[in-house]
Amino acid sequence: MSAWDTPSEKCPYCGTECEADWVDVEVGMIQCGPYYCENCGASSVGLYDPPRDDPEAARTGWYAPGTPCSPLANAIGGVPIDHVAAKRIYEMQYDSDFKILDKKPSKFDLE
Ligand SMILES: [Zn+2]
Repeated sequence: MSAWDTPSEKCPYCGTECEADWVDVEVGMIQCGPYYCENCGASSVGLYDPPRDDPEAARTGWYAPGTPCSPLANAIGGVPIDHVAAKRIYEMQYDSDFKILDKKPSKFDLE
């Protein structure tokens, strides 16, 4: 596997091959969003996610279908979106009271 690969992962709930959001950092690709299953709605737990009282997520490494994705993911209504779309939406809503993106916790909320 090279630094430019963006591997898929199999959903532990339904077996669908899932994609994550990746960003080019010039020496390779870095995952910048959770894996998300478009078939059932499960999403992977992020490395820096605040802990949840969720033994199923701890066991599988994925949030179950019907539960919100990582609070650190770019998301709308608990569904992850890619960083390019999130940036465009952020710019569109910057001077507006109409907020579409899910609010992320600040660094201080997580400590
Ligand atoms: Zn699934």
